[in-house]
Amino acid sequence: MTAKDKRFPLLLSSVVGQGKRSDDRSKPAIKTEMPQTAMRNAVRHAAPKIGAHSIPGLNTTRATKTTPSPSPNTSSHSSVPLVSANIRKAMVAKVAQQGVIDSLVLGALEAIPRHLFIESGLSGQAYIDASLPIGHHQTISKPYIVARMIEIMRNGAELKNVLEIGTGCGYQAAVLSLVAKEVYSIERIKALHELAKNNLRPMRIPNIRLHYGDGMLGLPQVAPFDGIILAAAGLQVPQALLEQLTIGGRLIAPVGAGNQVLQLIERVAPLEWKSSILEQCHFVPLRQGVI
Ligand code: SAH
Repeated sequence: MTAKDKRFPLLLSSVVGQGKRSDDRSKPAIKTEMPQTAMRNAVRHAAPKIGAHSIPGLNTTRATKTTPSPSPNTSSHSSVPLVSANIRKAMVAKVAQQGVIDSLVLGALEAIPRHLFIESGLSGQAYIDASLPIGHHQTISKPYIVARMIEIMRNGAELKNVLEIGTGCGYQAAVLSLVAKEVYSIERIKALHELAKNNLRPMRIPNIRLHYGDGMLGLPQVAPFDGIILAAAGLQVPQALLEQLTIGGRLIAPVGAGNQVLQLIERVAPLEWKSSILEQCHFVPLRQGVI
């Protein structure tokens, strides 16, 4: 690890800076029809369903419709149909039709603006239920599978701390932040780790900690976790991750090479894990080491 890496775990709010946040509070509310406005609207609609966390920077400011002002952060994503909370609602309805019933998870999916995690050229496809490229031969996962895996991992319980392997663009981490108290997410590709930081920074989500490293090793310094979710498929689940589950904790992972399946592993005793195979899925491969 380089000296720079040792700055992690990194509290997202520390990336954006606490000072900056209090400055922002003293300023008048930003009154533009920007993606953040859609996010606020969505959070407002979804708020009653969301128990674990809300996103401070987004649900405290009143969303007001005025003329859009140019902004370097959002101009490439500010096309009005894309930011419509209704489009996201329709996406969530489709996910629910496919059998996801956990209202906390569905509320989180409705609240997180997926188009902000996708490059502008593809953002027209942000709310179709598909995986999309995020660069470096990786993809943002399908909304259905994101919701399904979180639902299975959560199993109706309150999640204290969750570990995600494969941050990618940061979308799933953002969804998890509304479902669990603390979210740790590891990415092995430095450029994607940076991309996720940049994507998440404007959302000021206080309970996500991003790490650059090999997720196959987990995060022993923070373990145990009551939920672990893998966003990349290995031939088997790394033993280190099994050992970082709490007793009663649940891990959900895609496994396999060609034909992949979702595997749920529950730690039932200090040295006992119970495994079940669920539905078929398709994920990018889990790889060792960092690049
Ligand atoms: N969570 C993302 C999906 C990212 S795709 C979403 O929100 O849609 C899967 C990611 O897993 C890729 O970015 C890939 O680089 C990463 N990955 C693969 N093997 C890994 C490992 N051993 N440790 C950490 N990340 C890994």
